[in-house]
Amino acid sequence: MSDQTGDTKLELKQASKEVKESENVAEKYSAMTVSKNSEMNMGELSSAFSAVPTHKPVKKQIQFVEDKQEFSRFPTKAGRRSLSRSISQSSTDSYSSAASYTDSSDDETSPRDKTQVNSKGSSDFCVKNIKQAEFGRREIEIAEQDMSALISLRKRAQSEKPLAGAKIVGCTHITAQTAVLIETLVALGAQCRWTACNIYSTQNEVAAALSETGVAVFAWKGESEDDFWWCIDRCVNNEGWQPNMILDDGGDLTHWMYKKYPNVFKKIRGIVEESVTGVHRLYQLSKAGKLCVPAMNVNDSVTKQKFDNLYCCRESILDGLKRTTDVMFGGKQVVVCGYGEVGKGCCAALKALGAVVYITEIDPICALQACMDGFRVVKLNEVIRQVDVIITCTGNKNVVTRDQLDRMKNGSIVCNMGHSNTEIDVASLRTPELTWERVRSQVDHVIWPDGKRVILLAEGRLLNLSCSTVPTFVLSITATTQALALIELYNAPEGRYKQDVYLLPKKMDEYVASLHLTTFDAHLTELSDDQAKYLGLNKNGPFKPNYYRY
Ligand code: NAD
Repeated sequence: MSDQTGDTKLELKQASKEVKESENVAEKYSAMTVSKNSEMNMGELSSAFSAVPTHKPVKKQIQFVEDKQEFSRFPTKAGRRSLSRSISQSSTDSYSSAASYTDSSDDETSPRDKTQVNSKGSSDFCVKNIKQAEFGRREIEIAEQDMSALISLRKRAQSEKPLAGAKIVGCTHITAQTAVLIETLVALGAQCRWTACNIYSTQNEVAAALSETGVAVFAWKGESEDDFWWCIDRCVNNEGWQPNMILDDGGDLTHWMYKKYPNVFKKIRGIVEESVTGVHRLYQLSKAGKLCVPAMNVNDSVTKQKFDNLYCCRESILDGLKRTTDVMFGGKQVVVCGYGEVGKGCCAALKALGAVVYITEIDPICALQACMDGFRVVKLNEVIRQVDVIITCTGNKNVVTRDQLDRMKNGSIVCNMGHSNTEIDVASLRTPELTWERVRSQVDHVIWPDGKRVILLAEGRLLNLSCSTVPTFVLSITATTQALALIELYNAPEGRYKQDVYLLPKKMDEYVASLHLTTFDAHLTELSDDQAKYLGLNKNGPFKPNYYRY
């Protein structure tokens, strides 16, 4: 206990020192301009690349603040199979056009047992069916339309080729949106080998389209555990090709390389990690002094957390509920457990449809926010008998217990929007006296002996990623951040990043946001010299201190 307090004090001291340092560094440069048209032109981007003196010749640098931060959130219980928050598994569900194509494949032969060749004669890939490439290409083109900021980054930087020589191994969901990211990295000069971070989320036709263009993809929907590790290994272990960068979502690839190929791992220039779980694993390695590579924590950047978590959930919660249950929300009583980013997004959507929303919280600050936003904050037990819907968004476990499920009324709906499937005690429902009836894909009726039915969605897994689609635009924000983080780590002069986990600097977040403003034809107001002086800001940002919470 005393150790922990000591640690916390140390971290706080450390954190405040870093804020000062980063402000000083931010003062020193203004190359990465957010112009009045909310955009950075390629010249500005180039000068930003080279803003800091580097020991290596001709490398382009995006200026990053040396800004690292201890990971201070609770780990989720998500295992390697749990879905990431950023990419939609649902694009492989029966609702999307992609899915019906993917799912309709009746070829049960394992891709590992097939020999496939793309039109260029290469067989350095393993996907369900290379013949689906054309259909996958259409899916990618559709995704591109809503990822214009990433595409604009691609166009601006492709003559510079800031990733020339980069050999990136990636382990993410393989969907149309990720394909846009991968093809951006290739356009910027990288060679990529890719595998899936989830055994269910691969869009087979997209994997085929990528393989057709020469990206070595090892992934298909419905991999076994063994396939999963085999695919990772095939990505990493390729004669004559040694990766020097990692883009990971969940940390499995990183850990596979760390354990199985320590000598290759040591030579990696940088790791970019997107998920809560993966980031937590990196911090653990770092704390144990075993992280020998600089890593970038994308999960905790503002443009990820405040957009993916909040807006993505606001957009997708109703979609998931309606597709599965056809429920009407006007006047329905809904309890949302957890009023963090995800909870806030869900509540905003539910309130807009006229639902009566209750909140449960453990944190007085979030509870007060809920009150001020007009929601009743209650204990779950106070409303358990009357509510029509329970939605968990806490990242915690056993938030809804068997005892509470026993007391819910007939026809009530239970679902989870948090990362792991531990929030609702689903295991406790698998007892002989309860009957399970699968009424639709991802919808189970759990029936009590007296005939009462509780509707459980996605067996307590992430509702939106299991049962609906996630907006491409939000994924573009995260993907742009990932691309910039890779460029930065790859080009950073020796010594800028040590063997530690870093957060993206505010300025980079602002740049990612500015790229996306163009979509809305939003016009930023420019600070006058006088105003900038008055506020003590650089006219070109960063506009907020690191501790600002948005
Ligand atoms: P957060 O930390 O901002 O919010 C979680 C909230 O839950 C906190 O305010 C916390 O005080 C509260 N809480 C914890 N235990 C509780 C309990 N027993 N009862 C009531 N409240 C409790 O986190 P977030 O960004 O909102 O993310 C929440 C979860 O959703 C995480 O698991 C995250 O990985 C996941 N997530 C899901 C999606 C998605 O698309 N579905 C997107 C982003 C994040």
